[in-house]
Amino acid sequence: MRVLAYVGLGANLGNAAATVRWAMGQLQWLPGTSRVEYSSLYRSDPVEASGPDFINAVAAIHTCLTAPGLLCELQHLEQLAGRERPYHHAPRTLDLDLLLYGDGRIDSADLTVPHPRLYRRAFVLLPLAEIAPQLVASWQLQAVRSQPVSLFEE
Ligand code: ADP
Ligand code: MG
Repeated sequence: MRVLAYVGLGANLGNAAATVRWAMGQLQWLPGTSRVEYSSLYRSDPVEASGPDFINAVAAIHTCLTAPGLLCELQHLEQLAGRERPYHHAPRTLDLDLLLYGDGRIDSADLTVPHPRLYRRAFVLLPLAEIAPQLVASWQLQAVRSQPVSLFEE
């Protein structure tokens, strides 16, 4: 069964924009997975995190992977990008979050879907609204409007 899933990408160490673009390109090569759409890149202040500004984006993919299988592949890509977890909310070369997995609801020890902070973060909601406006209500965008997020232009 093929599922439409949304992946949130973020990076704030090294060449963050290049890393996010690299990761977006890699998603379509995951087993049983194809690209649907990628958002523009956005720039945001660190929220509940430290270090330089973040580059963020959201990707929509079709995948035959299970949700835990997809999470495992996303974590593998994080590792390939040199992700280390020295402490909670540390700066990261690449963070890949499974935002939505079809209309699936998952609440296990290592996976919560929809992603618990999806609707609290402008840097996720804005790129998600760009590629899937039907998934984000205007009041949800209003609720995060105080968080500074802008389109990333090189
Ligand atoms: P965060 O993304 O919250 O800043 P991490 O990337 O270090 O932090 O993720 C911490 C843990 O969150 C992961 O080990 C993973 O098991 C768990 N997790 C739970 N739900 C999700 C999800 N929907 N997407 C990605 N990781 C998740
Ligand atoms: Mg994460």
